[in-house]
Amino acid sequence: MIIIDGAEGEGGGQVLRYACALALLTGEAFTIENIRGGREKPGLMRQHVTAIEAACVIGGAECTGLAVGSGRIGFRPGKVTPGDYHFAVGTAGSTGLVLQTILVPLMLADAPSRLVVEGGTHAMAAPPFDFIERTLLPVINRMGPTISARLVRHGFFPRGGGRIEVDIVPAPLRPIECIDRGARRSVSATALIAGIPFDIADRELKVARKVLADWPADAFATRQLPAEQGPGNALLIEAEFEEVTEVMSGFGKLGVPAERLAQTAAKRMAGYLASGAFAGPYLQDQLLLPMAFAHGGAFTTVKISEHTRTAASLIERFTGTCFRVSEREDGRNLIEVIR
Ligand code: ATP
Repeated sequence: MIIIDGAEGEGGGQVLRYACALALLTGEAFTIENIRGGREKPGLMRQHVTAIEAACVIGGAECTGLAVGSGRIGFRPGKVTPGDYHFAVGTAGSTGLVLQTILVPLMLADAPSRLVVEGGTHAMAAPPFDFIERTLLPVINRMGPTISARLVRHGFFPRGGGRIEVDIVPAPLRPIECIDRGARRSVSATALIAGIPFDIADRELKVARKVLADWPADAFATRQLPAEQGPGNALLIEAEFEEVTEVMSGFGKLGVPAERLAQTAAKRMAGYLASGAFAGPYLQDQLLLPMAFAHGGAFTTVKISEHTRTAASLIERFTGTCFRVSEREDGRNLIEVIR
């Protein structure tokens, strides 16, 4: 039985999701205390409960203490069963984070799965659908599995109501080296708006244009979604290279000026472009689990995040697999899987 202090490291929901995935992958039970102890409002939120429930359903697991607000759960995994599954977060809780919990166990199962997940698809502090489809899955597919994702309906904070569908054809994972991005193919910055004034998109794009001043004028566009999918707003900034596509995002929220979210997302993209690294700040932690189960591989990346340190130490506890982080002469960080 592994005992985890949920306040350690990043101290948020990620520890829980990775612990559930690792328990299903290794058969090790765990208990976690001080759940989300590093957050202002600790304890399980609805979206974490849904993610853990999803892990229980696909993995025949038993979980004690599972309720909104709970600060402690016990999780005993069973056998992962591939199949057709439907999970609904019920709010704008992230569909991508439910997927983060069950994707790796299902892609190492012995038969295909089809998932429908409902909730938020473009919400704060979580991977938006575009990142999952364009950034994360292509890298994972290079390791062996065939995973495809479709966005059926957008879901924004606070209403949710989005829907994604994911098909997973498992395969053994093979190690890959992700060192260089290759040549740049295209760039784009898209302001998504649903049921909110057009002017918000204009303000976001104006700021993005200023930060990404060498991008062509036609790279910047507004996409208006049906009002009934809103109210909602997201800015998606994408750079496609031969070997990888990065998507940086900002999400509209009452009280957050459009200019500020655009500035943060565009600067993040500018920093990524200047770094020359393969993986940006979010792909970084999300590559660790598949790479650990490929038993090898490496990637270059930007500054190491606290999410990455936390995920790496959890993976080491469950599997014994370690990661070596080193700074290369060109300034990029290299993360390698070592046993
Ligand atoms: P909490 O509410 O406790 O902070 P949480 O469940 O929302 O927790 P985190 O622990 O902060 O989640 O983990 C967020 C996960 O989402 C991380 O894996 C991170 O890489 C990913 N993520 C966050 N923002 C983005 C983004 N803009 N693009 C891609 N991935 C993201």
